[in-house]
Amino acid sequence: MYQLTTDRDFDRWRDLARQMLAGQISPPQILWLDREDEPSLLSNTALTPPVSSQPAAQTRVPREYLDLASKVACHRDPDRWNLLYRTLWRLTHGEPELLERVTDDDVYQLGAMERDVRRDRHKMTAFVRFRQVPAESGEEHFVAWHRPDHYIVRLTAPFFRGRFAAMRWTILTPDDSVAWDGHTLHFGPGVPQSQAPQADELESLWRTYYANIFNPARIKIAAMKKELPVRHWSTLPETQLIPDLLAEAPRRVEEMTRKSRENARPGSGPRSSGSARPGDAAAGDLYSASTSPETYASGLPAGKAATFPWTAEPFIPQSRSLKVLAEASKNCRGCDLCDIGSQVVFGEGPHDAMVMFVGEQPGDQEDRQGRPFVGPAGQLLDEVLQQVGIIRDECYVTNSVKHFKFEPRGTRRIHAKPSSREVSACQPWLVREIEVVRPQILVCLGSTAAQTLLGRDFRVTQRRGDVMKTEWSPWTMATIHPSALLRIPDEALRAKSRGEFEADLAKVAEQIAKLKAG
Ligand code: SF4
Repeated sequence: MYQLTTDRDFDRWRDLARQMLAGQISPPQILWLDREDEPSLLSNTALTPPVSSQPAAQTRVPREYLDLASKVACHRDPDRWNLLYRTLWRLTHGEPELLERVTDDDVYQLGAMERDVRRDRHKMTAFVRFRQVPAESGEEHFVAWHRPDHYIVRLTAPFFRGRFAAMRWTILTPDDSVAWDGHTLHFGPGVPQSQAPQADELESLWRTYYANIFNPARIKIAAMKKELPVRHWSTLPETQLIPDLLAEAPRRVEEMTRKSRENARPGSGPRSSGSARPGDAAAGDLYSASTSPETYASGLPAGKAATFPWTAEPFIPQSRSLKVLAEASKNCRGCDLCDIGSQVVFGEGPHDAMVMFVGEQPGDQEDRQGRPFVGPAGQLLDEVLQQVGIIRDECYVTNSVKHFKFEPRGTRRIHAKPSSREVSACQPWLVREIEVVRPQILVCLGSTAAQTLLGRDFRVTQRRGDVMKTEWSPWTMATIHPSALLRIPDEALRAKSRGEFEADLAKVAEQIAKLKAG
C-alpha cells in the first residue's frame, strides 16, 4: 500500500497519478491524503511510492474529465483524491465512456462534488465584503475575510481579479488567502478571523443599502438562511441589521397592507388591489426585481405578497426518498399556482426506473385524481406505450410543473400554459426527482419540459426525436406532448403527428431493449 500526499494541489495529484498509472499501481494500492501530517491508519506502515525510471506513459484522458477533476479536487471531502484516481484508472482501463454513464456511482459522486464546489464559488462571489485598511504605500487596500465550505480560493480568485482589477485587495479564508497587487495574484496560507481587519466606514454604506432594499413582506426565514447561510453572517455588515428589521417587519407589513386598501378604494388611483392577478402581465411587472417594496405589495390581494419566493427550493427536504419528497410537495408555496387547483400532482413510478417521462403540468383529471397522466393525454400515452412495448409501470412519469394552471370557463377548467416564472419556480422539484431516479433514458414530452431541461432555445418542432447526452441522462430525447396531438384539428395532420410520436417512442423501446440486453 502506498501513501501519497497531494498538499491539496491538483497539479501535484495529476503528476503523481500519472506516475502511478505508469507503474500500473491500481486504486486499492494507494491511499491519497491531503497532507503528510494527516492522521492515517497506515501512518507507520505505508511505503514510499515507487519512482519509475521510465518516463510516465502518455495517458490520454478526455479534456472534460480533467476539467471536472480540477473542480472536484477543491472539495473538502478527504476521499476525493481516491475517487479521482479510481475514475482515472477506470477511464484508462477499458472504460473510456465512463463519464457518459451518469448513473454510475463514481460518476454520480463526481457530479455531486462538482455541484457543491460550484455552489460554494457562487456564494463566495456573493458574500465577500471588503474593508478598507491603511496601507504603508499610501494606496488604498481592501481586505475581506470569508469562510468557504471548500478549498475554492484558487478557483474563484480570477473572478475577483476581473471584477476588482483596479483595486488592491486581499481575501483571507481559514484555509488559504489571495492578494491582488494590480498585476499578479499571490496565494498564501489561511488566516483566522481574529486576525482579519474589523469594521470600517464601508460597512455603514452596506447597511444603508440593505435597509433600503429589505422588503418585510417577502420575509421567508428558511429561504433567507438558505440563500444567506448563517455561518456567513458574522462577515456581512448588513446582517447585523437583520434582528431589528425582522422585529419591525410585522408593523411595516401592516402599514403596507393599509396603504394597499386605501389605494384600492374607487378613485384612489389607477391600480386596485383586485386588478392584478398572479400570472398576468400586470402581476409580472409587480413582481419584477426593480419594483419597490410598496409597489410590490400594493397591487396584490392583501396577505398574498409575502407568500411566494418564486422557487420551490425552501420547501424541498434533503431526503432522497420519493415518498418523502411527494409528501413535502403538498406544502409547497413556491409560486402562485399553489392556490390554484385542488392539489399538487407529484411524479410517480419506481425510484430506480430506467425511463423517465416529463410532461408539462397536470390537467383537469390529474388535478382531481392527484396522479400524473391519467386524463385523455395520459390515456393516449398509455396506448402508444403499449403499442411499442413499453411497460408504463416500469417508468417514472412526472411533470415540469406540479400544480394545474387553468382558466375557468363556466363549469369547465381550461388548461393555461404555465409562465416561465412558474416553470422555473417548480424546476427544483423536477431536478430532485431526476437526481433520485437517475434515469438512463429521459423523454421530454412537449416544449415546456424540453425547454426546462434542454434550454430555452430548444424547439421540439425542429429537434423532435434527436437523441442527446445531457447532464440529466445519457440518453435524452424530446418529442411531442400527447395533449398537443389531441388538440390538432386537422385529421391528416393529426395522423401524421401521431405517427411521428409513435416512431419516437419506438426508438425509446429499442433503447430499453438494448440496455436490458446489457
Ligand atoms: S407549481 Fe411547483 S413551485 Fe409552484 S407551488 Fe406548485 S409545486 Fe410549488
